[in-house]
This record gives sequence, structure tokens and C-alpha cells, in this order.
Amino acid sequence: MVNLQENIEIVREKITEAARAAGRDGGDIALELAVKTQTAKTCRAAALALAAAKLPVLLGHNRVQEAEGTIAAIRDAQVGAKVSLIGPLQSNKINPALRCFDEIETVATARLAHKLAERWGDEDDPLSVLIQVNTSEEPTKSGCARSAAVDLAFEIAELAELRLSGFMTIGAHTSNQQKVRESFEKLRQIRDIVADSGRFGTENATALSMGMSGDMDLAIACGSTRVRVGTAVFGARR
Ligand SMILES: *Cc1c(COP(=O)(O)O)cnc(C)c1O
Repeated sequence: MVNLQENIEIVREKITEAARAAGRDGGDIALELAVKTQTAKTCRAAALALAAAKLPVLLGHNRVQEAEGTIAAIRDAQVGAKVSLIGPLQSNKINPALRCFDEIETVATARLAHKLAERWGDEDDPLSVLIQVNTSEEPTKSGCARSAAVDLAFEIAELAELRLSGFMTIGAHTSNQQKVRESFEKLRQIRDIVADSGRFGTENATALSMGMSGDMDLAIACGSTRVRVGTAVFGARR
């Protein structure tokens, strides 16, 4: 049996340590639990464990279909869970996605942004989105090209139904630490250009969702404000 509460505590300590090493205060780094392949029961337990640790309850699901199977159990915990989509979104899954998720972290095209805005339809309570950038330019990875990210952000700025919270990336898949670091630094550079543009006010477009179990130290050194952690809390996926 995995002790979720204990593992969350260990990861929180790792975050604090990595932040301190980078001269940061770990308090501004959110822990999002990546619950892919976990059962509804485990998702609920994870939400309760975050709440018991007095942490914001952030869960990330990769697939719409998985979220459909767990969302009732998560909501049932009544801990104000925020559930984000961290995997790619097909346009034929937008409606069920909007029923399950509070946030979409993986907007990579203007086409998807426009469709989400149209289906969400609520300008008074805009949908939080992040732009996923394929910073490592690995062909197997989702996300928009680095060169397209800033323009996509400005396009989203025009959509009143969406609120651009920030940017998301998956670190380069390599043992070369320098390459991994570069992929995170590239996301931060994009965020800085967009945040400095003044088009989003001071609160929006600032989040940097980057770092997973294996590379969160590097991501935190590069300015991550949200790490998405699965294995380190739930154990290896089967
Ligand atoms: C699985 C996954 C994570 C978490 O990965 P771990 O290595 O298990 O911590 C984070 N982000 C995304 C997009 C994922 O698919």
C-alpha cells in the first residue's frame, strides 16, 4: 500500500529543497498530482490527502475518458479539487472535457483555442487554459512549436471566454541534464516575453507548469511554478 500522505510530504520537502537551492521560496510552487491510470478510489484518496496536508487540491488527468471515470469520486471528496487536462485534447472530446475539467493545460493551436472559447461561452467566468509548448522539439511530443507560442498567446488574449494562466511543457526526454534544463528555460523565456507584453495584466499568463518526478529539481531551478508529479507519489505505473 502506498502511503499517499507520506509521499506527498516527501515531495513537498523535495520541492522546498530545490527551491531553496535555487534561491526561491517553495511556497509559490504548486504540486499537481498526475493521476493517470489511477483508479477513482485512488484519485479521491489523493484529493483528500492534499486537503489533509492543507495544500491546494490540484489533480492532472491525461485523458478525457479516464477523467470521466474518476470525476464523480473526486468531486464527492468535496475538497474543492481543481482538475486539469494535461494530455492532448481532440476536438471531438471538447464537450466531455468541459464537463470534467476545470482547466486545460494543453492548448497547442489557435483552432482549439477558438473551439474551446466557443463551447465554453462564458465571458464572466472564463476557462483557465495553458499553452503547451514542445520546447524540446521531439517529434513524439505534443505542444505548439516554440516559434508559434507567443502569437498563440496573443490570439488567446483576444478570446474573452478564455483566461491564459500560463505555459506548460514536458522536459526533454534525455539523460543530458543540460538539454532538459534548456527545454525548461525556453518555456520561461516564452512566458517572460508574453508576461512583459502587458497584454495579460500582472496575474495572468505567469504560470510555468513544468517538472515531473524525475526532473522537478531542474524545472524548479528554471522557474517552475507548478510541478506535475505522478510516480513519486503513487509509485510506478503498471
Ligand atoms: C505522467 C505525466 C506526468 C507525471 O509524470 P511522473 O514521471 O509520473 O511524475 C506529468 N505530466 C504529464 C503530462 C504526464 O503525462
